[in-house]
Amino acid sequence: MRWPERPKTTVTQALDTCCTGMQDQTEERRLRGRLADMQTAEDAYRRRAEDGDLHALMTEPGLRRHTLHNPDPDKNSLVRIYDQGMVNRREGRALYNRIKALAPHGECPLCGIGEVDTLDHYLPKAHFPLCAILPINLVPACMHCNHDKGPAVSDSPDTQPLHPYFDQLGQGRWLVAEILHTSPVTASFEVRALPQWPAALTARVKHHFTAYDLGSRYALQTGRHLAGRRSQHRQLLAMGTELLRETLREEAESWAKTDLNAWETALYFALADSDWYLTEGLAED
Ligand SMILES: [Zn+2]
Repeated sequence: MRWPERPKTTVTQALDTCCTGMQDQTEERRLRGRLADMQTAEDAYRRRAEDGDLHALMTEPGLRRHTLHNPDPDKNSLVRIYDQGMVNRREGRALYNRIKALAPHGECPLCGIGEVDTLDHYLPKAHFPLCAILPINLVPACMHCNHDKGPAVSDSPDTQPLHPYFDQLGQGRWLVAEILHTSPVTASFEVRALPQWPAALTARVKHHFTAYDLGSRYALQTGRHLAGRRSQHRQLLAMGTELLRETLREEAESWAKTDLNAWETALYFALADSDWYLTEGLAED
């Protein structure tokens, strides 16, 4: 998974952009009247996230969580400005597209498989309307991840989804694969914690992996990918087992240069290490 750059646009600029072209002046005054609250929310959000304290976002007073017992009087307007001002109106849409374009290669940073086609609210707008157009709360995502993100709000440090703008996972391979002795060939994937990770980060990465169903989604990609490479791998095998092993390792190292924890990196290292794949796995069908 490749993390996108953090958006540089502030909530003040985002509100200006989303209000451009707005016809209803009463609505615009109402929204602009909440700018100070949105700025407070932005400061609180950034501080908590930069301190590596993302779970505390859920209960941070500056973020003014909307609940039945503590309703935000402008919730509908704040949510609507996202839907109408940022998604649908031309000026806002340009900002929306700029944030989407931050994802390297247009690839969803939450799964590393899907194509970015939406923005995901890290803190859901229904619960945190003051963060509905906050750029650092908007993460490029594929539809699958946007719909399947699991529990939307968590105040536990262990079940906080990863935040691509703020979480630092450090250097090292933490996604590993194992080739399964099946026909057609596939693989299982798992998170292997890096030694420098604190326990809470390990729990969160594992939770992220499960919440986004990455194990089975990577296995599905693997089955299809290896079916397409089968003929090529058999030709190389006919020229020598070690030639094929070396080619698989070079492929792994090439993927590792662009993304150390891509499913392809994990898969090719596992293939190169699998004596079974280099013999029975590629035997005649
Ligand atoms: Zn995704």
